[in-house]
Amino acid sequence: MSTIAQNIEFLRKQLPNHVRLVAVSKFNPAESVMEAYRVGQRVFGESQAQELVPKAQLLPKDIEWHFIGHLQTNKVKYIIPYVSLIHAVDSLKLVQEINKQALQQHRIMDCLVQIRIAQEETKYGMTLEESASMLHYISVNNFTAIRICGVMGLATDTEDQNQVTKEFQYLTYCFHTLKNTFFQTSLYFSEISMGMTHDYPLAIEQGSTLIRVGSGIFGERVY
Ligand SMILES: *Cc1c(COP(=O)(O)O)cnc(C)c1O
Repeated sequence: MSTIAQNIEFLRKQLPNHVRLVAVSKFNPAESVMEAYRVGQRVFGESQAQELVPKAQLLPKDIEWHFIGHLQTNKVKYIIPYVSLIHAVDSLKLVQEINKQALQQHRIMDCLVQIRIAQEETKYGMTLEESASMLHYISVNNFTAIRICGVMGLATDTEDQNQVTKEFQYLTYCFHTLKNTFFQTSLYFSEISMGMTHDYPLAIEQGSTLIRVGSGIFGERVY
């Protein structure tokens, strides 16, 4: 068995039924994606439009591509035909563009709202208040081509497990707050995307439904 296959097996053993694995294949070649595909992995994450589009065109059509990185509005139209979930929606401007492009391409685009949970200044994302006002705007306007399916966050890159646990707890709290306010009767508002190679066990403990693991499957990335 290849290392990639072994890593996927190892992760699968730890995943409760309600948690899905997004194999983050960014900076890894199509052959590596195929190694994971051959052991049944179907959900892959990419963070750059110019990398996702050629991979999606080349690789099997039953792959579910997730866009996990920061998305620029001018890239939206290129990825819409290929992605099934956009993880990191962090502004109303981006929501408007996704809705506009999805309408034109006759798609309904599933998205998650990125919430800033880390201490680090550099991480993208909205506050709970900002995301609530965005969701209010979405609910009173007619955004028919976009569907908000949950929240996503990146914890601080630290050895301090308590801090990371608190940040994941906060994201779960945000999920429930937004659900109670805007999506009480919605079945599709159900995802909490949190946890990467170094912190996915804590994320699962705190209620993650989607973990995004890259180097833990494909090895350290060579940029
Ligand atoms: C690259 C990336 C990951 C995967 O990171 P690893 O530490 O390699 O598991 C997860 N989420 C996002 C948003 C990323 O950009």
